[in-house]
Amino acid sequence: MRILVFNAGSSSLKFGVFDRARGPGQEVRQVLKGSFDRFRDGGCEVTSEVGGARRSGTAPHGDLGAAIAAVPGLLAAEGIAGIEAVGHRIAHGGPDFTGPATLDEATLAWVERLTPLAPLHNPANLQAVRVARQVWPDLPQVGVFDTSFHLTNPPRVTTYAVPESWRAAGLRRYGFHGTSHKYVAERAAEALGQPVTALRIISVHLGNGASVCAVNLGRSLESSMGLTPLEGLVMGTRSGDVDPGAFGYLHRQLELGIEEIEAALNRDSGLKGLTGSSDMRDVEDRAAAGDGAAQLAINLYAHRARKYVGAYAAAMGGVDAVVFTGGIGENSPSMRRRICDGLEFMGLRLDFDRNQAVDLKDRAAPQIQAYGSRVAVLVTETAEQLQIAREVAQHLARPAAAPKPIPVAVSGRHVHLAADSLAALFGPGYDLTVKKALRQPGNWAAEERVTLVGPKGRIENVAILGPLRKRTQIEVSRTDSFALGIDAPVRDSGQLDGTPMIRLIGPHGQIDTDGLIVAARHIHMNPADAQAMGLEDGQIVGVKVGQGERSLTFGRTLIRIQPNAFTEMHIDTDEANAAGIGAGWEGEIVELEAHLDPGA
Ligand code: ADP
Repeated sequence: MRILVFNAGSSSLKFGVFDRARGPGQEVRQVLKGSFDRFRDGGCEVTSEVGGARRSGTAPHGDLGAAIAAVPGLLAAEGIAGIEAVGHRIAHGGPDFTGPATLDEATLAWVERLTPLAPLHNPANLQAVRVARQVWPDLPQVGVFDTSFHLTNPPRVTTYAVPESWRAAGLRRYGFHGTSHKYVAERAAEALGQPVTALRIISVHLGNGASVCAVNLGRSLESSMGLTPLEGLVMGTRSGDVDPGAFGYLHRQLELGIEEIEAALNRDSGLKGLTGSSDMRDVEDRAAAGDGAAQLAINLYAHRARKYVGAYAAAMGGVDAVVFTGGIGENSPSMRRRICDGLEFMGLRLDFDRNQAVDLKDRAAPQIQAYGSRVAVLVTETAEQLQIAREVAQHLARPAAAPKPIPVAVSGRHVHLAADSLAALFGPGYDLTVKKALRQPGNWAAEERVTLVGPKGRIENVAILGPLRKRTQIEVSRTDSFALGIDAPVRDSGQLDGTPMIRLIGPHGQIDTDGLIVAARHIHMNPADAQAMGLEDGQIVGVKVGQGERSLTFGRTLIRIQPNAFTEMHIDTDEANAAGIGAGWEGEIVELEAHLDPGA
């Protein structure tokens, strides 16, 4: 499949053509790379690169629309034909776009309604979509959103501590650069030879825009940008974190209005505000020549980034790898060094020579940590357009789901025991007694019960489910975790590294063990049902449960396909209460479009 990808900004348009091979691996490969830059009255600069041959010059296109309309001619001149789909980077997808979406009238109207959330970014993205729909009316146009990857962030990350009415008006943290962070985390995991779902990765994207992301076991836990791409790191022209008290102060002292302050924080701050140049190469050159303002800017830039790396290591309970990307992360050994210096306390040590010798040709992702460093440090080029092409291809290849009702089962709190925990709680050689079989073949509830104890309270009579497992796992609801006084993370079953400790008490003795989680909702499914519904193992879907006023669509539900599984959705008691679910209820898998129908 051949895909044209657009990344449109207010003063430039980057684009690329990608081929996805059919068959095993289905790797995506870039065929053409191009850009139109610095739009001005009656002209812009244009570059294109095919097979290593680069052309550049000027073109008579004064704006984004004219540039897009000129792309078919440029492709024809390069001998590139057969485009089958168009992908678009869209900055803000709000709370609803959890993945790529086909941009038809309904979805476009929905994205347009998000413009107030991203007035500086979404309008150019949307203009590109509108023009592309006219130029290629017969091709599918697919949007890939910078925010989607971060929609797994928990409420403690996404919530600002502000009045309820502000939060009701949509004030919350989102995070951006999601396509880059996702690509970079997966590339780093590949380079380390481990699944991304087994790693705690901190992705540090330092370009003109800059953000840090904690990618915990493959999912974004938190990133440094917030409601808009202004929060967090020092950037080329954006301030990053500033006390919101600055608004009142600047208004009183300098009589500035909100729009002036906002424009200055976005366009005249960051490296530009500190030194007059937004370009790190200039700033580094000036600092080396003794310019005090440039030296301060570099120190401040590195300090802020280092602080976020430390914070995210704490947020994940540790870190396995830090990955640098973006123009500065890829090209500035001295900035990487400054950020990493001082992180030795958490087991991160850089190797001097490896850091200097980074070569990123052919999508390399070299490791630059010192021998014996507990934390791996990698550098890799970000490839947002490639990642967009991958996601567009996956989105379009997905078979249409034929909806079929899915039984919903409510899991109460329970414990899975490992053999050593069983012996400690019930005595050496003890065997659990099967009380009743569960619907998942081979699983059963035991007669025996245990007590859970946390710093705030205890929960008695907690069910034990068999058979025994390799590691003890305790599944509670969010409400239970407050009753216990322990912050249990939402995890897929079996992903227990870094989970909190809890005390279990049995008739024979007690143990303190990790493994306390709030189970991520999921659907067990057998291969036949999965095929009938067009679903794949590991896919994330939305499930609509109930009808009328209390109907609820559960987002981010994981499909787990196992031979012989009884097809059934598992949610916990908090989730069931939220939707008023009772015995015998069924859910229906919904596509993203169903989220987008305001009447649904
Ligand atoms: P964007 O976010 O617009 O895609 P980039 O990822 O290309 O931006 O990053 C641009 C930044 O990278 C600029 O500040 C530029 O100075 C910086 N940069 C590029 N090459 C180097 C280098 N060799 N040393 C230091 N900074 C560099």
